[in-house]
Amino acid sequence: MTDRDSWPADWNVERLHADHAQALRISREFYDSATEHQRIRVFENPTFGRIMTLDGVVQVTEADNFIYHEMLTHVPILAHGAARRVLIVGGGDGGMAREALKHASVEQVTMVEIDGGVVEFCKEYLPGISAGAFDDPRLDLVIADGADFMRQNADLYDVIIVDSTDPVGPGEVLFTDTFYGHAKARLAPGGILVTQNGVPFLQGEELTNTMRAFRALFADATCYLATIPTYAGGPMALGWGTDGAARGVDLATLSARFAASGIETDYYTPEVHLGAFALPPYVSRLIG
Ligand code: SAM
Repeated sequence: MTDRDSWPADWNVERLHADHAQALRISREFYDSATEHQRIRVFENPTFGRIMTLDGVVQVTEADNFIYHEMLTHVPILAHGAARRVLIVGGGDGGMAREALKHASVEQVTMVEIDGGVVEFCKEYLPGISAGAFDDPRLDLVIADGADFMRQNADLYDVIIVDSTDPVGPGEVLFTDTFYGHAKARLAPGGILVTQNGVPFLQGEELTNTMRAFRALFADATCYLATIPTYAGGPMALGWGTDGAARGVDLATLSARFAASGIETDYYTPEVHLGAFALPPYVSRLIG
């Protein structure tokens, strides 16, 4: 096997972590260029289908995105029970908007994405991820820095989803106490903030920092878990913050809401929802 710096050219080697890399074979390259914010690459892998990376880090794949997008939308929306207005920060591939808009009860989804190039390239090269979400009249797409939007916006939302890159480059501002404080101010009563919070086995400090900020802001601050194969290193932590009682919703209520939604899923079920909050000690120790 080649050493880490001489992988064959037809492999994409993700170097997000100091001591761990993820390599994906490129069976076909569609795009590889930079916007003012980041390098966008779209290629195909025989197992995961089309893949987008930003600055070399896997963001979304055709094959496993359903896990991440279902768990960051249906968990807060069904736990809330009456979510009408949803805010997505990031989410340029459109997968988060796709799943949120499946809820007929959701009247508006505002999506604040810093890089219009990601939206355009995903529409062209990964149309199956957004699956028409960008054409839904309930979607309001804003091209802006999510941190600026959160500071300046005056609207209130029932669910806020931070679907950002990792805390490097443009995504870094979305992992700060200031940003979380501004997000809390944008939550309607009973509103829920959920966040992409990395893979705790390899990015434990990121989760610890977010949970420290959430505990200072919310009556209920925790995370829940979902395992997405191409977010390598084990289960991913999804941050959860609210002053409401939504996490206490019982299985019967969740099941009735899920049935009423008429949404078909490939990962989410009410049982998976409740089970996702059962944290193993190595994670619960990280959140304090
Ligand atoms: N599922 C991926 C993950 O877990 O890493 C995230 C996918 S989505 C493509 C991440 C999006 O966040 C990208 O489109 C990126 O442009 C956007 N983004 C990064 N920093 C941002 C910021 N400060 N404001 C708004 N969007 C941002």
